[in-house]
Amino acid sequence: MAETNYDFIVVGAGSAGCAVAARLSEDPANKVLLLEAGGRDTNPWIHIPVGYYRNIYHPALSWGYQTEPDDKVGGRSITWPRGRVLGGSSAINGLVYMRGQSQDYDHWAQLGNRGWSYEDVLPYFRKSEDQERGEDEFHGVGGPLQVSDIPDRRPICEAFIEAATERGIPRNDDFNGAAQEGVGYFQTTSRNGRRISAATAYLKPARGRKNLNVVTDALASRVVVDEGKAVGVEWTSHGIPYSAACSGEVILSGGAINSPQLLQLSGIGPAEHLQSLGIDVVQGLEGVGRDLQDHYQVRAVYELQGAASLNTDVQNPIKKAMMGLEYLLHRTGPLTISAGQVGLFAKTRPELDSPDIQFHFIPFSAEKPGEGLHPFPAVTASICQLRPESRGEVMIRSTSPSDHPKIDANYLATEGDRRTIIDGMKMNRWISQAPAFAKYVKLEREPGDERQSDEDLLEFARERGNTIFHPSATCRMGTDERAVVDDRLRVKGIRGLRVADCSIMPTVVSGNTNAPAIMVGEKCAAMIREETHG
Ligand SMILES: Cc1cc2nc3c(=O)[nH]c(=O)nc-3n(C[C@H](O)[C@H](O)[C@H](O)COP(=O)(O)OP(=O)(O)OC[C@H]3O[C@@H](n4cnc5c(N)ncnc54)[C@H](O)[C@@H]3O)c2cc1C
Repeated sequence: MAETNYDFIVVGAGSAGCAVAARLSEDPANKVLLLEAGGRDTNPWIHIPVGYYRNIYHPALSWGYQTEPDDKVGGRSITWPRGRVLGGSSAINGLVYMRGQSQDYDHWAQLGNRGWSYEDVLPYFRKSEDQERGEDEFHGVGGPLQVSDIPDRRPICEAFIEAATERGIPRNDDFNGAAQEGVGYFQTTSRNGRRISAATAYLKPARGRKNLNVVTDALASRVVVDEGKAVGVEWTSHGIPYSAACSGEVILSGGAINSPQLLQLSGIGPAEHLQSLGIDVVQGLEGVGRDLQDHYQVRAVYELQGAASLNTDVQNPIKKAMMGLEYLLHRTGPLTISAGQVGLFAKTRPELDSPDIQFHFIPFSAEKPGEGLHPFPAVTASICQLRPESRGEVMIRSTSPSDHPKIDANYLATEGDRRTIIDGMKMNRWISQAPAFAKYVKLEREPGDERQSDEDLLEFARERGNTIFHPSATCRMGTDERAVVDDRLRVKGIRGLRVADCSIMPTVVSGNTNAPAIMVGEKCAAMIREETHG
């Protein structure tokens, strides 16, 4: 162990980790070390919203995990980008600000997790937030995370919203307010045309704190456990091994892939699997890495007639130059575009209590996120199922921390999941055929008119579907045997060790996962401070 002794060591400066480290170091008495495997967030495209499309597969900024090839998705291996830079995935994500449904958190509480009902977590969402529209019972102001309306509203987006309302879907101007159901514009984690990552929100204001040491290019390789207590962390930086001791607690915030990986590397996880790799079992915990959930998206592409799409605008050098100029002068225009302009939440079956599908509508199209735009005018409506039943797993394949673990996403494994995605695609087609939007549609390029039967649509979903980047639940919170952390996020059987990130979700929330991860970080820090101050 190095001489330095910290009160808290946080592993991973992502959405949750930045919040944990910043809140713990607000108390000058706490000496905090924050370790991040990636580098500093100096790449200028991180901070320009549309830079998302350049950076998600950037080898220096993104982990680029690969799932195991799976027949259920046409035998494909799917790339899973995760941020590897200060800010973590919040530095490369699509900026959509979404909390999920109040029912998600009430469900967590019903599973036995005290303190996690919506009423319990709402104060942490509000505390983290600086809502551009002002304060109300659901939203906060003055918090670190700036949340704003989308400045670039395009006529084709309006047409899609109108088409949905023609089909009886209610207009909703705040998906994070009283109800999620409906159609309208997303809000984003941005301000004045700049991305607000967790690092911008939480670390930048804490820069001058002497009690917060942020170390980048530090790949944590093991949590050191002595007599059942976490007492330090080992890491490597540019091939050189380091370690630090910790008298208080170690908090793992490496995200849904890395937190279970690091626990397993540290001898905490499924005993048989660890032994098969020659790892001494420190604490047998069957659930570490299991119960993985993700949202699987299927995208429909509509070729347009009589309406503008960004696809064609970017091919015109004058228009492209104007976009750059507009951004430089006003911080508006297409460079502020996020991964979703219009959102839609709906029920595929009327008897459901709350929406089970989410749409992301964007005024352009590409073969896949991060690739060049199609040469014809077109838009994309992606559909994802909000509460998948299928569960996969993340398991280390070697004792090397730099080897990516084996990720079995196990998409579309249940009849319920297959049914929901088919019904979602049908609903999308039904909306796109409503008059306000149909008049602009020249052709449904994907799935394509030739795909009509349920079997055809499912085949398309299997062959063309993709992650919408929300892996969760791999260090699940709960009271059952397989749960990894308790409702205070403490790893079962080990003292002084918590997990705070998307991996602790008992079930993935019904929406995008950045704001919930930040809320988890806020709540974790608050629980620790509550416990350490009596
Ligand atoms: C491309 C993409 C688009 C997305 N779009 C949206 C969106 O529009 N809206 C939304 O709400 N959500 C979106 N998400 C999801 C959301 O951003 C993530 O769920 C959320 O940021 C995860 O937070 P986290 O704290 O769990 O992990 P992360 O933010 O991923 O943080 C983990 C951090 O730990 C670091 N780390 C990992 N292993 C180690 C190690 N061994 N040692 C040291 N450091 C380590 C990582 O480098 C990373 O910085 C998107 C995600 C991606 C990848």
